[in-house]
Amino acid sequence: MANKPAKTRMCVSCRKAHGQDEMVRLVRTPEGIVRLDAGGRENGRGAYICKNRACIEKAKLERRVERALSCPVPAEIYTELGEQYA
Ligand SMILES: [Zn+2]
Repeated sequence: MANKPAKTRMCVSCRKAHGQDEMVRLVRTPEGIVRLDAGGRENGRGAYICKNRACIEKAKLERRVERALSCPVPAEIYTELGEQYA
């Protein structure tokens, strides 16, 4: 198989497009719950954030994910993001 072009996704914080492996995906499940989607394959509407402290902090402070997904994001999500990626 030839190399496929890497898919890019736009960060909700810096609005720049990056490869999916540089981003973390948050998903709003059909049940209306927002959670981390480490594998990037869960069904539902997704929002992406760069795996760096600046973008995670900005998303938290400015409620970027809430707006992108039209759904409240539990504080634990940001704690988890900070612990894993910041
Ligand atoms: Zn970013």
